[in-house]
Amino acid sequence: MKFKTIVGLEIHSQLNSKTKAFCSCVNEYGLEPNTATCPGCLGMPGALPVLNNEVVDLAIMAGLAFNCDINLESTFERKKYFYPDLAKGYQITQGEIPICENGYITVLDENNKDKNIRIQRIQIEEDTGKALHNSDDFAYMDYNRSGAPLVEIITYPDINSSKEAKEFLTKLKNTLQYLDINTGRMEEGSLRCDVNINLVNLETDERTSIIEIKNINSFSAVEKTIEFEIERQKELLLNNEFEVRSTRRWDDSIQETMLMREKFSSDDYKLSYDGDIPTLVIDEDIIEAVRNKMPELIEEKTNRFIKEYELSKYDAEILTSDKKISEFFENSTVNVKNKTLLANFTINELLRRLHEEESSIDNLKFTLEDFSKLLNLVDEDKINNNTAKKVFRVMFEEGIDPIKYVEENNMIQIDDKSEIDEYVNQVLNENPDSIEQYLSGKDRILGFLVGQVMKLSKGKANPQLVNKLILEKIKKSQ
Ligand code: ZN
Ligand code: MN
Repeated sequence: MKFKTIVGLEIHSQLNSKTKAFCSCVNEYGLEPNTATCPGCLGMPGALPVLNNEVVDLAIMAGLAFNCDINLESTFERKKYFYPDLAKGYQITQGEIPICENGYITVLDENNKDKNIRIQRIQIEEDTGKALHNSDDFAYMDYNRSGAPLVEIITYPDINSSKEAKEFLTKLKNTLQYLDINTGRMEEGSLRCDVNINLVNLETDERTSIIEIKNINSFSAVEKTIEFEIERQKELLLNNEFEVRSTRRWDDSIQETMLMREKFSSDDYKLSYDGDIPTLVIDEDIIEAVRNKMPELIEEKTNRFIKEYELSKYDAEILTSDKKISEFFENSTVNVKNKTLLANFTINELLRRLHEEESSIDNLKFTLEDFSKLLNLVDEDKINNNTAKKVFRVMFEEGIDPIKYVEENNMIQIDDKSEIDEYVNQVLNENPDSIEQYLSGKDRILGFLVGQVMKLSKGKANPQLVNKLILEKIKKSQ
């Protein structure tokens, strides 16, 4: 059976405006429960919403960054359902006309070709409160998040694999981080993703029902959810089984999606126009003002890095994909002259290590200054690259001062020709056949000899010098 996976995403992104979307309560994570509330966001009768200008600006900024059209007029609706975390009994969202429409984000598809994932709309919404389930069988409500501003970003079903979904989400998150409108702290729920997925049998055109998986708050869980649903729905197609449109959730403990309920239709939400909020009218001047406030975005920074630091496109793209990493690199360039060394070491050692440890640049144990010092030791030929890697390992784990560490552990590179000469002679004496082997065309033996000398010097010899001296000896012996 040949089949195609069809995925659309809906992403709720918190906006880090100073105050909430429709009242003047402070918009901040982690406060004492119910200390940032007012009659408005508690849903008291008679309290009226007032739309926050800053939220409008941030939503326009997201729209511009994602290539959307900005609507000069947009409208608000009430989405009604009953749940204790929803103080008013409805959520204010944008209905018929959202503030932004028709955008896209470019990702690399399965064949590493550019592909545009279209964005259908970006709408302003308010968040709900939060239920806290304690061990005492009671649920407690914290309404600090009630009325906090969100944008919901809705794609067309243009995504055809878990890889494309991950690429889309990564680019989305990184761009929001560059714009500084979302904290990026997914563990705090700053970005939550709903996945809509079904399969189509390309031979018979049979389709599975669209399944929605709600509120996934990590990208790896999104990937796993899609992979799991592909397998589950493939079985349905193969066995000619029918399933009604439904909502599921990802259960991380068993690595499976679980049925939550059969799908709410939009009728169930009894959407209606919100008469308390007039049509939002903006003009080109407002959009222009927001455009002028936009910071440098990923692609601009990539191009600038290529020019300013003479990086390859590949390296520049890696270093700019994450805003904080790009800043770490750029701040390091102030003290490190050798930009190629800096870029290579940042990518191959620092980023690889962060990735392996699933850690972030916020949690480094060493300072930017110490990182620069380490690279300058290499650049000034005081230590070789391999020693630098060893020192970096200790820096990463314990946050030591590289200069002190190198001195205390006697790791300074040996550049003294006569000292290296001694090692070379010793190695050549111990391997009397090696010169002939080299001359008869087995040039791999050179690497072996260099390795032996490095070992004798406890890794401290200047490898280029070792290489040169061995070749000289071989030539002389002819
Ligand atoms: Zn409030
Ligand atoms: Mn929503």
